[in-house]
Amino acid sequence: MKESKIPLAGVIGCPIAHSKSPQIHGHWLKTLGLKGHYVPLHVKPEDLSDALRTMPKLGYVGANVTIPHKEQALEIADVVSDHAAKIGAANTLVFGGDGKIHADNTDGYGFVQNLRQSAPKWNPSAGPALVLGAGGAARAIIVALLDAGVPEILLSNRTAERAETLCQEFGPRLKSVAWDTADTTVSDAATLVNTTALGMTGKAPLTLSLKGLQTSTLVTDIVYAPLKTELLAKAEEAGCITVDGLGMLLHQAVPGFERWFGTRPAVDEATRQAALA
Ligand code: NAP
Repeated sequence: MKESKIPLAGVIGCPIAHSKSPQIHGHWLKTLGLKGHYVPLHVKPEDLSDALRTMPKLGYVGANVTIPHKEQALEIADVVSDHAAKIGAANTLVFGGDGKIHADNTDGYGFVQNLRQSAPKWNPSAGPALVLGAGGAARAIIVALLDAGVPEILLSNRTAERAETLCQEFGPRLKSVAWDTADTTVSDAATLVNTTALGMTGKAPLTLSLKGLQTSTLVTDIVYAPLKTELLAKAEEAGCITVDGLGMLLHQAVPGFERWFGTRPAVDEATRQAALA
């Protein structure tokens, strides 16, 4: 008798205990009544290649990769999507029937889908976006904003060279703004995004003055612990539409789940509650 295989997927990180991905995928597997398991996997950087080559033999159909593995996973993969190559990092891997590791990056997709779902009137082409931060998440968000039609990105980062490198890499629609003068550009922004770790529980606050912020500006923070960061609270007080960062995490998980388990899941209030549980 042929044994039917139960598909396995997981999230690989170091550390990994904090990850909400097992709750999100577990919720979808359960509510959609699908066979499958999604597990957290603690893997050290020096073991990543061995782990990824072994996982398909153990029944894994794919995996998410998170800090610190996103760049290394891209190097290890056999087939890399154009999108992941442009960002320089992978977060979603599919172990193909061809024996190859396919790498993609869905962080930018998750970011834009979150805005489209939570703020349906958001118009990326309405004006410049002010992006704070130039780390890994910022790279994915910059590519997504450019693809969505944002006319200009004002990019501000504590370490100016990092912002300038991204401006050179991603072209003339990007302009670097000094970190200590970022608040002078707030009034120009149609979209304002915090991609730094500032404002996260246990980290320093984001001390950006919102003086001059227009009520039409969409303000979003990719930090989701706390859900309502100080930036979002201040922007809400100023009358802006705000979008929290949890939705980005939920939406970036959708394409991987669909590839591994065969059904496209919905991101709804129950998914949010599952991630917060
Ligand atoms: P990363 O590559 O380490 O980049 C960190 C960024 O934060 C850099 O721009 C860094 O500036 C800035 N930063 C850190 N401490 C700072 C400080 N004290 N003052 C000023 N700037 C500071 O991290 P990442 O992967 O981009 O992640 C950034 C944040 O986004 C994290 O909080 C992460 O949890 C969150 N995130 C959320 C999602 C989601 O789905 N919602 C997805 C990915 C990441 P320098 O270059 O000057 O160091």
